[in-house]
Amino acid sequence: MWDVRKVFQTFETKESCIAFAEEQGLILTKRICRMHKIPMVLSMAGTSIVGTFICRKGSCRTRSAISRSKGTWFENAKVPLNQIFYLMFCFSSHWSHEEVRKNSFVREPFLSSATICDWYNYCREAVVLYQVDHQEKLGKIGGPGKKVQIDESKFGKRKYNKGRRVEGHWVLGMVEDGSENLRLEVCPDNVRSAEVLIPLIEKPVAPGTIICTDCWKAYDCLSTHGYEHRRVNHSDPDNPFVAEDGTHTQRIESQWRVMKRFFSKDNYNNPENFADLIIEYVWRKNIANKHEDPFVKLIEAIIHTYKP
Ligand SMILES: [Zn+2]
Repeated sequence: MWDVRKVFQTFETKESCIAFAEEQGLILTKRICRMHKIPMVLSMAGTSIVGTFICRKGSCRTRSAISRSKGTWFENAKVPLNQIFYLMFCFSSHWSHEEVRKNSFVREPFLSSATICDWYNYCREAVVLYQVDHQEKLGKIGGPGKKVQIDESKFGKRKYNKGRRVEGHWVLGMVEDGSENLRLEVCPDNVRSAEVLIPLIEKPVAPGTIICTDCWKAYDCLSTHGYEHRRVNHSDPDNPFVAEDGTHTQRIESQWRVMKRFFSKDNYNNPENFADLIIEYVWRKNIANKHEDPFVKLIEAIIHTYKP
């Protein structure tokens, strides 16, 4: 597992950063000149932080020179490589800005909030693109004879000090019995009517599934959409948690508690990218479930989108 000491050792110098980036496939080690079909020379003299490929033929030199960062994760980077890798590690560790500054081994240049924000956003973007593709490959959850618990919950309702009130976001959660494969969808326009919920359910849940919900009326039409529908009535004084036929929604409900802790961290109350934060949450949850290394998984996600 990567920790801050290993990050410090691995990314101590510019050379060690470049070696790691090459090894991981984040940047190319070779390039052929299109015109002359011969290998280009890598020059570290230019302004590009990971060097420039130049053709050996004199006439070609300037015309075909191409920055090695072009089209990669490092394109347009304004901070040194060791800080980029450090910020990637911080994001993967889910550190707050304060933790980023406190633990930083790179003293210069000072890590501003804007820089941390930028690189956290780049990392999140890569994670979202990766996770959406990954979920598509995994396919739907449920199917005939299988149970999926579904519930909705409201996130991010808080009063801002300038009197602006953020109404929060309804999130639909779906989890199959016996599986850790959690699916989350943000309700568009903050509506949780049947018109909104049914298509959000049909996206990840296979037809024929036994769907367990509470008595929210929007779920009433599930049985006309190819599902078997079972309910638990939370206002039943005798059996508020488990219906007589054993139906309950406790797994998805316990997820909300965990998620609300996650979203209470700083920088998680910006409503504009809430849908992305939900996907990031699922990405982190999958990594934790499988005891994988988040830094390794972040690099995997980055390469998925920024393959040079
Ligand atoms: Zn050439």
